[in-house]
Amino acid sequence: MVKSQGGLALEVHNLSKRFGDRVAFSDVSFEVRVGEVFGFLGPNGAGKTTTVRTLGTLLEPTAGSAVVAGIPLRPENGVEIRRRIAIMPESPGLYLRLSVRENLEFFADLYEVDGPRERIDGVLRAVRLADRAGDLCGALSKGLRQRVALARALLSDPQVLFLDEPTAGLDPVAAREVHALIGGLRRRGVTIFLTTHRLEEAERLCDRVAILSTTLRTVGRPDELRDQIFAQSLTVRLVAPLPDPVATFGGLPGVTGWAADESAGYALTVSDPAVAAPGVTRALVAARADVLSISRSQRSLEDVYLELIDPAAIDTDHESG
Ligand code: ATP
Repeated sequence: MVKSQGGLALEVHNLSKRFGDRVAFSDVSFEVRVGEVFGFLGPNGAGKTTTVRTLGTLLEPTAGSAVVAGIPLRPENGVEIRRRIAIMPESPGLYLRLSVRENLEFFADLYEVDGPRERIDGVLRAVRLADRAGDLCGALSKGLRQRVALARALLSDPQVLFLDEPTAGLDPVAAREVHALIGGLRRRGVTIFLTTHRLEEAERLCDRVAILSTTLRTVGRPDELRDQIFAQSLTVRLVAPLPDPVATFGGLPGVTGWAADESAGYALTVSDPAVAAPGVTRALVAARADVLSISRSQRSLEDVYLELIDPAAIDTDHESG
């Protein structure tokens, strides 16, 4: 497979798209490295699909520029870009009265795939559908159809694969299968641009994620974003509430604030959990507290997302002063 120059699969600079007065996305800039699984998250109407369609040459941007699989995104380069990428849209777009193999034959012909028979056999194996090749697409479950759609997207051996909500509407088992297939593609070095509403999916699969809500809110590794957006914290669980938490936690090195819950639990805001935990433990022992656990609190990507998209949705801890 030919890889793009400079290790970048996508370079997006100040890209915008509007439909008349409606702004679909505005001033979006990011880069995706070759071989990365890049998550693209955002609420309904955030502009994710329009971004995919724009980078996939199906729509012309209103402003800005991009390089897709090493080729500048310009109308005259559309054919060349489309040769190097594939888009799996949210709805599979298959002919339900044709069999799985007939669908793939039709699209292999459309995409002018070299050696179509071998290629079709290869993609059917890749999505583990070789034994269902003769089934009518209309008779397949939603999850299996999604796998056929993925096979269709793989026919052209793309360098960059855009997956638009590939697990929308799938049950957890079918979604896991799609995740396993994405893992397999990543191991083969395919760059994957994944739009999703499933935040745990993005957290599990993606090297980095971008959060879009018409404009880009942030880009980074999920753990980086958690650390950037939320203070580090320790969670302490006791058998009974402390009689005087101010006396216990006040002035401890590395502890900058704390909040109590109703069940003898305390969330401590700390500069570095590794520095703060020994002092917290000693203070609890000195206060004769019966400790059930002291652990580092884990914020999820979902917390990051909600904080960026809707800050009111997240409870914030109180400062101890
Ligand atoms: P969802 O998660 O619901 O699929 P999305 O993030 O993919 O949403 P888009 O489908 O890109 O969002 O839509 C972004 C905005 O652009 C929306 O306000 C939408 O109504 C508008 N839009 C998208 N396509 C068109 C179009 N062809 N003509 C006019 N407006 C459009």
